[in-house]
Amino acid sequence: MADKRLLILDDDLMVGGTIAIIAESAGWECKATDEPQLFFSLLETWQPTHIALDLVMPKMDGVEVMVELSRRACSSQIIISSGVGSRVLDAASRSAAEHDLNIVGILSKPFKPSMLHALLSVNTCDRKVMEDDAAEDFALGSGQDESVVCEVELLRAIEQRELFLVYQPKINCITNTPVGFEALVRWQHPQRGLIMPNDFIPLAERSGLIDPLTDMVVERSLGWFAAHFADSNLQLSINISAVNLKNLLLADRMADLCTSLGVAPGNLICELTETSTMEDPVASLDLLTRLRLKGFLLSIDDFGTGFSSMLQLVRLPFSEIKIDKSFVMTALQSAESRAVIRSIVELGQSLSLSTSAEGVEHPRVLEFLRSVGCERAQGYLIARPMAAATAIDWYHDHAVISV
Ligand code: C2E
Ligand code: CA
Ligand code: CA
Repeated sequence: MADKRLLILDDDLMVGGTIAIIAESAGWECKATDEPQLFFSLLETWQPTHIALDLVMPKMDGVEVMVELSRRACSSQIIISSGVGSRVLDAASRSAAEHDLNIVGILSKPFKPSMLHALLSVNTCDRKVMEDDAAEDFALGSGQDESVVCEVELLRAIEQRELFLVYQPKINCITNTPVGFEALVRWQHPQRGLIMPNDFIPLAERSGLIDPLTDMVVERSLGWFAAHFADSNLQLSINISAVNLKNLLLADRMADLCTSLGVAPGNLICELTETSTMEDPVASLDLLTRLRLKGFLLSIDDFGTGFSSMLQLVRLPFSEIKIDKSFVMTALQSAESRAVIRSIVELGQSLSLSTSAEGVEHPRVLEFLRSVGCERAQGYLIARPMAAATAIDWYHDHAVISV
């Protein structure tokens, strides 16, 4: 019983009370409030397993509440409720997924008790167990405030090797076999513990430290890749920032490194976000073209989230489209996300680009991707980003030995 606690935030106390009555009849302990402040204090003191959140409230709208929940690293299962149209609900659910919140589903008002029962009985345990099993064993805590991390510390981190890389596998959707890895950077801060890239990459970009950081990522990930997979046809994906595109020497440096390590450039994919390629169109075009001419592959990351996707795709020499995880993570609940995914895959096919989806957390999403012809998948369902040695073990456990 103790693990069924539902906290309801709804400005209409009648609605909140009704949700509570329905849930209590199914054995839930419930607390309902229309006060965001009380809601957040109950969140800390009462630690609900589930939250029912009204999107439209006069004091603080649902999106603000979700941002705050994310800031507090809330792990409760969240049901979003509202009378707004399905497009807005979909958008809100995508925004929640972007904030790494656990969304169980959407309760559109007016609702029937059976709809609430169904949402409350969604079994998210499988996913929880899976995440716990795969938890990075070196994680010392994250969610640090970027403002407290300063440039001097980041420079020290680059020089003193406090930054390290983890590798997340990518599989072929049809055969389920590994096709490569994406290198993702982490910062093991001596005092603050583990810091995630979203909390220091922007600082690196602002301070000019992104060039040495990218050099370090390229050098170390290629070294790792060469040591284990130089003769394979696996691919290594590396994230390149917009600011790196101003440095035309990057292409030469990468090509030299590939030559000295014996890695074919065609095994390397540079991932760029759409927004990053838009910032300086001419510089982007120059560097990206040089990279392609040297044989490297290029992926347009987070595809679907920028504003000129089509334009970037046609103008720049990409070889892969990577469908953003905000669509993939909501594919089960949202018909719109499924439609977006389907059309991105078609677009990829008609432009002869390979298609990859990130943020795959559920077997049915993998099945859907397979059914629409998406070629590759990456996500917690397959594996979390792993330390270098663990990734090698994972590969040997999952690779098909060809004869
Ligand atoms: P990204 O390139 O879009 O990388 C995917 C992010 O999604 C990673 O977060 C990964 O851990 C996470 N992810 C993968 N599968 C799932 C899933 O199934 N569910 C969920 N909820 N998340 C999933 P991470 O490692 O925190 O990286 C965040 C961003 O930081 C990256 O987004 C990338 O833009 C940037 N980044 C990471 N490493 C580097 C780097 O070496 N250089 C640069 N410039 N940027 C980096
Ligand atoms: Ca990426
Ligand atoms: Ca991405």
